[in-house]
Amino acid sequence: MQKLLRTIAMFLVIATVVFAAGCAEQGGKKTNESTPAGEATTAQENNTIRKSTSEQMPTYIVGTEAQFPPFEIVDSQGKVIGFDVDLMNSIAEDQGFKVKYVDQDFAGLIPALQTGNIDIIASGMTITDERAKEVNFSEPYITAGLALAVTVDNENIKSVDDLKGKTVAVQTGSTGFMKAEELKKAGIVTEIKDFAHVNEAIEELKIGGADAMINDLPVTNAFIAAQPGVIKIVGEPLNSESYGFAVRSGNTELIKKINTGLKNVKASGKYDELLANLPKYMEK
Ligand code: GLN
Repeated sequence: MQKLLRTIAMFLVIATVVFAAGCAEQGGKKTNESTPAGEATTAQENNTIRKSTSEQMPTYIVGTEAQFPPFEIVDSQGKVIGFDVDLMNSIAEDQGFKVKYVDQDFAGLIPALQTGNIDIIASGMTITDERAKEVNFSEPYITAGLALAVTVDNENIKSVDDLKGKTVAVQTGSTGFMKAEELKKAGIVTEIKDFAHVNEAIEELKIGGADAMINDLPVTNAFIAAQPGVIKIVGEPLNSESYGFAVRSGNTELIKKINTGLKNVKASGKYDELLANLPKYMEK
């Protein structure tokens, strides 16, 4: 485990250095770059952008809750990294736009999109009918689902059927939260405690403030990989969900770019490459 962690840490360091070098080079190149009128106005801040091959590219602000490994996390340099970031960067590169990541609470992402503070959500967001009334989703880009977790020493809860009279910890505004509400309405769960970040929900489990947690399976697995021996997943996944990127309702131009980019990135084999890289974000 230690050795594996060290190898991954080394890999991340190398990746960060290579990445930083790319940014520095790009930073030097882009001094006389201009942003087309009417486009996003943060071209001067785009040191975080990966590649700049032509002038006059629009910059879109991407909102994300970057405490959600392996999809988005913040590295030791304060940079947002993860599978969603890799994929969005590849789509941006394919479609000739730039992206700048803004880390914020998950529950505030849709409101931020609607008020125009951000242009895209890339945050492991599940496509749901309810959300689709408020935002435009891209085609699905990965499949996940919810799982139940308890502390490693808990032998009483093995599935949702054992949640009668129990307290469940979830992330605010997440599909895990919605599932917990459903279970509460059905008279199973007694209390729901919600937190801005998944790691806070895990903390609540640890101190005994909650009996179980409902969260996205790959993310819970990533936390277990980073901190083994604290919590475990029990039972079968509760459902299957698809993640999508989101833009403001009616922003058909941008959603078209994202969908076309996603298609191209899949067709070129790049998507599979990024997917193969995903485990590197599982242990921090
Ligand atoms: N996939 C879950 C949802 O869409 C959780 C996402 C997240 O917390 N980043 O609600």
